[in-house]
Order: sequence, then structure tokens, then C-alpha cells
Amino acid sequence: MGEVIKGHCLCGAVTVEVTGPLGEISACHCEMCTRWSGSVQMGIEVPQERVTLDGPVKTHRSSSIGERAWCDTCGTAVWFRYPDGPDAGYFELAPGLFDNAGDARLGRVVYADRHPDAFSIAAPDAVRVSKQDYEKTHPHLSEGTNT
Ligand SMILES: [Zn+2]
Ligand SMILES: [Zn+2]
Repeated sequence: MGEVIKGHCLCGAVTVEVTGPLGEISACHCEMCTRWSGSVQMGIEVPQERVTLDGPVKTHRSSSIGERAWCDTCGTAVWFRYPDGPDAGYFELAPGLFDNAGDARLGRVVYADRHPDAFSIAAPDAVRVSKQDYEKTHPHLSEGTNT
């Protein structure tokens, strides 16, 4: 068993406990993630069985395959996940739930070529995956432009 990492939303109503380690942060510049997050969507991928959540979490099925969740009191982003299909079984937890983003490092930027003209993420160590390459390895995504 790894250490337990605790996080919470802005108002404190939603709490999360993860049996570590947390793993790396993945960022997404796809159109839906940009719109939902307001800028860049980031998530720490954790197997669902290692996550305990409590509080007023609301979810939105943002596409046929993706689901996004937030605190119903303060609006803090909580997770993105694929409820079913080949990528199911994981939460992509919002790094901001944890102090110092859970000490995780930014390992990957997907839809890296789709960032807005105004900004992109400066992360020299991160792997950058273009929309075309990402959808090549995730063929179920190609039905839409993103999730
Ligand atoms: Zn809250
Ligand atoms: Zn995305």
C-alpha cells in the first residue's frame, strides 16, 4: 500500500483520498477540454479502486465516451473519465485538488498542436502528442474531434 494523499475542492465540501503514488499529470488542448476547463485541462490518472470520494459531486456526460465532474457547491473541477470502453477504470483527477498538484510532474500534453494561439504549456520534459497521433492510438476518439 502506498501513502494516502488527501485533496479537496475550493469550498471543502468534496474530499478525495488516493492511495498513492499519484503518477504524472496529463494536459489536454482538445476543444472540449479547453472549453470546459476555461484554458487547459489537466488530470492525474489514477485507477478508480485507489480513489475514495465524498461530497456533492455532479457529473456531465460531455460526449458519448467522456464524463466530467465538479463540486456542486463551488464548481471546482474534480475529474474527467471514460465511464466505459477501453480506457475505463481510471479517474483523471484535477491536480488542483491536491496541495502543490500532488507533487506530480507534467508528463504529457495531448492535442499539443491544438493549443490556442494565445498560449501553450512550457514543459520541456513533457511528451507532446498531436491530435493526429493521439487519435491513431485511440481510434475510438476519431468519431468526434475530442472527448
Ligand atoms: Zn466545493
Ligand atoms: Zn481533451
